[in-house]
Amino acid sequence: MELVGICSVCGKAGKMHSCPLCGSIVCKSCYDVSKGICKRCARNPGKMIK
Ligand SMILES: [Zn+2]
Ligand SMILES: [Zn+2]
Repeated sequence: MELVGICSVCGKAGKMHSCPLCGSIVCKSCYDVSKGICKRCARNPGKMIK
């Protein structure tokens, strides 16, 4: 899912992806496209941040 907003990881504004695990909106560089989750969640598999 693509939307416009401010990245909750690095604070950059622009086109965002929403992470299905933590619900955060993150920019392209903070998003792991192959896994479909943000890089914060990709680094912590199985750990849900809410
Ligand atoms: Zn970012
Ligand atoms: Zn996430």
